[in-house]
Amino acid sequence: MYAWHETLWQQLAQSQRQHRFHHALLLHGLVGVGKQALATALAEALLCEQHQFLTSCGQCKSCALFKANTHPDLITIAPQGQSISVDEIRELASFVHHSAQQNGNKVAIIVNAHKMTHSAANALLKTLEEPNPGRYLLLTCDDISQLPATILSRCNKIQVAVNDRDLANEWIQQQLPSDIDYPWLNGFVDQPLKVQQWYLDNQLELIDMLYKFASDVKASHNFESVQRILSDTPELVDVLCLFIQQHLKASLLNGLALQAYNEAQKALNQFMADNKQILGLNQSLALSKLVNTIKRTIK
Ligand SMILES: [Zn+2]
Repeated sequence: MYAWHETLWQQLAQSQRQHRFHHALLLHGLVGVGKQALATALAEALLCEQHQFLTSCGQCKSCALFKANTHPDLITIAPQGQSISVDEIRELASFVHHSAQQNGNKVAIIVNAHKMTHSAANALLKTLEEPNPGRYLLLTCDDISQLPATILSRCNKIQVAVNDRDLANEWIQQQLPSDIDYPWLNGFVDQPLKVQQWYLDNQLELIDMLYKFASDVKASHNFESVQRILSDTPELVDVLCLFIQQHLKASLLNGLALQAYNEAQKALNQFMADNKQILGLNQSLALSKLVNTIKRTIK
């Protein structure tokens, strides 16, 4: 768990102290806020033999098993490929049903629960509806709008977010070499682990190129490089769109006519939708269409 989780952790510990700790927690929030790390830390605390007030002792057999990644009373389910299948949820249900091997709690973590198939979500309902003492389900989810209402209503929804930007900023600075400082980094303080992942994947320079392209989209320098970045790493399309959106908003504040702004924004929305919906999209054509519309509207 990370420093910006501390307040939330205290609230959860408080709820445990007051016997209000829910058997099913849905940890939701942006990609890169550390939901999984939080779920793991909760699991460790819940499994510890001295697990009062959400502290793990680090000494007991349970803590040792947890550290060795071999705790028999913990199961973690994550998407295999694109989704979480009904078979995985059945395995979870059977795990929850059987008694604990360490005579304590049992914890099941479902990573990216919004990736459950329809039948997987249905299978999970039954487990959610019949809570057993000492059984905890910890779900993580980037986008709760993708979870069925039936699941949502049976979980305690906990939003995980960076509540202290200074702490997160400090943490990001610690992860990056001191000579790295991009003007756009500040825009991602709410997703510290995402920035860290970009750094580990050597993508910061690519993102900086997208930023420069978006900031002077009329000139469209490096069109080919940008196009290559998007086709190699499609997940960065959203980042480019975010930068262009920021540029359009700044232009509006600097006197761009509302009608022109709306037209450019519409083209941007279309570009985003096409990237999500059209399989085998001609990326180069789509991008040049977008750039041309922006060139025409922003004079
Ligand atoms: Zn312990």
